[in-house]
Amino acid sequence: MITERLPLRDTNGHTIPRYDEAEVHRFDDMEPWVSAPMATCTVCDRHPRFQVAGNVVEVLDPCPYPNGITTKITLSVPSGKLIVTDTLRPVYWWDSRAVAADYNSTLGQAQAVEAMAALGCAFGPILHGAGLYRTGPDRYIIANPDLDEDDNPSLPEDTCLADITADLWAYSIADFEHWKARGGDPANLDDNDTIVDVTPGEYEFTHHSGERSFDGDASGTVVFAHVERIA
Ligand SMILES: [Zn+2]
Repeated sequence: MITERLPLRDTNGHTIPRYDEAEVHRFDDMEPWVSAPMATCTVCDRHPRFQVAGNVVEVLDPCPYPNGITTKITLSVPSGKLIVTDTLRPVYWWDSRAVAADYNSTLGQAQAVEAMAALGCAFGPILHGAGLYRTGPDRYIIANPDLDEDDNPSLPEDTCLADITADLWAYSIADFEHWKARGGDPANLDDNDTIVDVTPGEYEFTHHSGERSFDGDASGTVVFAHVERIA
């Protein structure tokens, strides 16, 4: 048997960090065999299968999410009051069966967003602190503004309706009355929790942090999610 290391040329859309070479074993009269790496794709959470193509290694199956994942969920806000904070646990928390992929993968985070939405909580991962900002009538963003050279924030401060700490790397937003009906106790609200008045209705949250082009460290305003009333 001969073992050699060959460069990984084509990941077939998968994102496999720190893995640019594969170990290839050659036996007489047999197809070369590539050692299964511990690496998983940070987007789809799969162990890629490899094949040898001449002097390089390629990934056999394409990533199902070559552009990452954008999640869209809706939140009913009949009360016209949102509770905005970092976590609403234990009132809203997903069942582990609903988040089968590793939460550190893009797919796992998308599954968490969907699972929380099914419970009545708009949830999403953030990097850095964030805030809920009004951008127009019934339109908002969950974003992290930047300062320009003259220390002017990239979003007007008077449009910030709620600050969300990055302690838990996520936001959680629910209808205030729905939260109370599920056992949330307003006596336990603290500085991290903000009640925001909005037009009653259905709100669509489009979450961007799983998109391939998303850059949490980009200069200017980093938008984690767009929020708008759709009904
Ligand atoms: Zn993948």
